[in-house]
This record gives sequence, structure tokens and C-alpha cells, in this order.
Amino acid sequence: MVPIEENVARVLDEIARAERESGRAPGSVRLCAATKLNTPESIQRAIAAGVHICGENRVQELTAKRPLGAYEGAELHFIGHLQKNKAKELVGVAALIQSCDSLELLEKINSLALARGVRQNVLLEVNIGGEAAKSGFAPEALEENLEKAVFLEAISIRGLMAIPPRAEQPGENRRFFAKMQQLFVDIGAKKYDNANMEVLSMGMSGDFVDAIAFGSNLVRVGTAIFGPRPAPVPSATTR
Ligand SMILES: *Cc1c(COP(=O)(O)O)cnc(C)c1O
Repeated sequence: MVPIEENVARVLDEIARAERESGRAPGSVRLCAATKLNTPESIQRAIAAGVHICGENRVQELTAKRPLGAYEGAELHFIGHLQKNKAKELVGVAALIQSCDSLELLEKINSLALARGVRQNVLLEVNIGGEAAKSGFAPEALEENLEKAVFLEAISIRGLMAIPPRAEQPGENRRFFAKMQQLFVDIGAKKYDNANMEVLSMGMSGDFVDAIAFGSNLVRVGTAIFGPRPAPVPSATTR
């Protein structure tokens, strides 16, 4: 059995050490457990061990596991690619949709939030590595889209999220984290109404310590908590 409790304690320790080493306030970096392909039982063990945020990345999985109480006791975030036609499952359900990657998706979320009388917190995902296969706003297109998104009255833009390219070597993603930090600071300095640059979500199991050194305050960690994931069941509709 994977020692989830020990893993959570170790990850929280490593986060605390990274905070100290990069001169960040204690407790300023939050941990989001990336729960994909893990059972409600495993997720509940992680929550009991000190995880306060769960991030799911497939709508279908989230809607299947939520009624089973998988995320009870934690805040629920969405961190995967979101199709517009599935946004209805998340608006008013996810405390934060981290992975908003197009203006059309933001508009869709906004109209659902308006209809439901809620305000939906979102992050804008940036395709910081410029990878064709990844979603997210191109860094150079981020501001022009943000300037339109700030007028969507039922969403609250809380910051940025990024998934850099898969690193071959330790430390390889530092340049992408540095670019994200720069974008985050630059946009924050412009003080857009309805775009508070409070949350910078970056860093995963292999690189969250580096991400924290570059200003991340929300790390998304899966494998280091739950162990290696089982292979996903092939299906055309899982995303
Ligand atoms: C799975 C996932 C993570 C965590 O990845 P690990 O390498 O297992 O820590 C982080 N972010 C997103 C968007 C994910 O889908």
C-alpha cells in the first residue's frame, strides 16, 4: 500500500523548506493534490493527512467521484483541459477552475455563472513552453485576452497557471517558471479591475521546489503523494 500519509507529510515539509529557502512567508504556498485516477478512499486518506485542496483533471471523473464524498473536507479545483460543453458540470461546483485556456471558454463559464447566480473563480492557463499539443494562452496573447475577460462580470480572475514541458533534466523548467513569474508580476502591476494576480499555480511532483523559488504559491502534486498512477483506461470521452 502506498504510504499516502507519510507522502503528504513529506511534501508539506518540502514545501515549508522551499518557502524558507526562497524567503517566502510560512504557509504562503498551498498544496493542491492532483487526484486523477486515484480512488475516493486514497483521496480521503490524503485529506485526513493534511491536504486542503484537491485538483481533478477530468470532468467525468470529478462528477463520478464527488457524490462518493471523495473530496469532502477539501476545496475542489479543476486542473485539466475543459471542453466548453462540459463547463456546466463545474461552474458553482469547483472553487477554482485553474485551466481556462480560451476566451470562448471564459465566456461560456461566465454565462453559466450568471444564470446560476454565482461568481466563478478562475485562473488563466498559459502555454509557457509554446507546445503545439498543450492548451493555454500563448504568452504573447495573454494580455489582449485578459483585457477582454475582465469584462465578464460573473467570473473572478485570480491568477495564472502553467504546465511547462516535460523536463528531461532536473532544473530544466526553471526558465519557464522564471518567464511565468515575470508575466505574473507584469500583469499584476497593471492592476486590472477584476484580474487579481493572487494565485500563481505551477510546479508538480518533480519540480515544485523550483517553482516555489520562482513565486509559485499553489503547487499541484500527484505522484509524490499517491505513487505512480495506473494506466488510464482508453476511452475517447475521458477528456
Ligand atoms: C497530474 C497533474 C499534476 C501532477 O502531476 P505529478 O507529476 O503526478 O505530480 C499537476 N498538474 C496537472 C494539470 C495534472 O494533470
